[in-house]
Amino acid sequence: MAIDPTQPYDDDNIFARILRGEVPASKVYEDDWALAFHDVAPQAKLHILVIPKGRYVSWDDFSATASAEEITGFIRAVGHVAREHDLVEDGYRLLANVGAHGGQEVPHLHVHLFGGQPLGRMIA
Ligand code: C5P
Repeated sequence: MAIDPTQPYDDDNIFARILRGEVPASKVYEDDWALAFHDVAPQAKLHILVIPKGRYVSWDDFSATASAEEITGFIRAVGHVAREHDLVEDGYRLLANVGAHGGQEVPHLHVHLFGGQPLGRMIA
């Protein structure tokens, strides 16, 4: 069920619970701004989710209201995770679903990082 990106932040969403350590996740990286973990239902050989530590529903409120420090920290974390997994030479894909048309299901901003195989071209 896709979410409404304009809804208020839900502190009980699954990624908020992962951030609080209430739900386990296969973590690959963490710093002051971001947490990265393997997607439980991988759609590529390597499929990692990177989430900001702040309370943001989607790319929409993050891009509109996060501080420059949070945005920089988050984007740097995504790049760091890709480099740590040796993805730069062969390439990789980043994806952030937003709202109903984007098919976003979890109401905490997450960037999908896909890699480890040729991904082809895609619109959706
Ligand atoms: O972008 P979207 O909201 O559709 O993606 C949510 C992603 O979160 C899915 O790929 C799903 O497999 C993943 N997920 C996860 N761990 C959970 C719940 C969902 O990795 N506990």
